[in-house]
Amino acid sequence: AKDDGRDTIRFFLPSMQAAADYRLALEKELRHAIERDELSLYFQPQVDYHGNILGAEALIRWTHPTKGFISPGTFIPIAEASGLILSIGEWVLRTACRHLKQWNDQGLGLTHLAINVSPRQFRQPEFVGQVQSILDETGVNPSMVCFELTEGLVIDNIIDTIEKMQGLKKLGLQLSIDDFGTGYSSLTYLKKMPLDILKIDQSFVRDIETDANDAAIVATIIAMAEHLYLKVIAEGVETRPELDFLKQNGCNLFQGYLFSRPIPGHQFVDLLAKGIPQ
Ligand code: C2E
Ligand code: CA
Ligand code: CA
Ligand code: CA
Repeated sequence: AKDDGRDTIRFFLPSMQAAADYRLALEKELRHAIERDELSLYFQPQVDYHGNILGAEALIRWTHPTKGFISPGTFIPIAEASGLILSIGEWVLRTACRHLKQWNDQGLGLTHLAINVSPRQFRQPEFVGQVQSILDETGVNPSMVCFELTEGLVIDNIIDTIEKMQGLKKLGLQLSIDDFGTGYSSLTYLKKMPLDILKIDQSFVRDIETDANDAAIVATIIAMAEHLYLKVIAEGVETRPELDFLKQNGCNLFQGYLFSRPIPGHQFVDLLAKGIPQ
């Protein structure tokens, strides 16, 4: 039974040494994941007020030959710490742009594709140039690409951050702040940054119905975004009441299991054709 399973798992809780060994082993294998074709992108729809799919967020997946599916929550931090994120991030960007280009050529009517950019990737001095060559190489419309940058990245070295952001805006990209509300970005910084979208972190959305503080935070973030002329997207929308609250408070875009889990590209295309059942 389920409970038995949970009890047995306790026996296998790795010691800290074993956890460190596991990280090292994963890092070693992650080095070859790209050339061995073990990485793929999934896509989670982003929908408007009426439930129409406007775009998607690209989310990386690693299928290990023996360990099976490994969550990005596990391997992205390892990639970030080891520097592997630079080649993985470049792979993500190129692969996501290729998908977007193909979907546009098929006339699927998307408005954008959101791509996660890690702090280390963003801080590379040659990042803007790298992005430009991938845009050129794939022939994608830059205004349809939206970079999701985490709030932590944004407050660290603000001058360099704003300069990079301006470089990306010159290329025509859209910029959004991911996990908004979990960091400490001040209004002063927000006003200085060339942003298009704020993305409300799912930790605030989760308890919107039961936690008055979270409800107030979400309502405040949406109101603030409006004042700054930014669009707002909520992530982790799982229930109808959560959606209703977000809509009533003026949120523009929605993403979460209520609409769809992240799915492979071909399934995303099917879903676009069928639409999400209301
Ligand atoms: P994130 O950028 O905040 O992405 C949202 C995460 O929430 C995704 O987890 C998504 O599958 C999950 N999610 C979406 N809707 C719901 C929902 O309704 N309920 C719940 N409980 N969860 C939902 P995922 O795909 O496991 O990714 C985890 C994190 O790994 C991402 O968090 C992001 O920080 C990182 N990541 C994923 N793909 C990439 C990538 O290509 N590059 C970089 N640098 N990081 C990535
Ligand atoms: Ca994200
Ligand atoms: Ca998040
Ligand atoms: Ca909930």
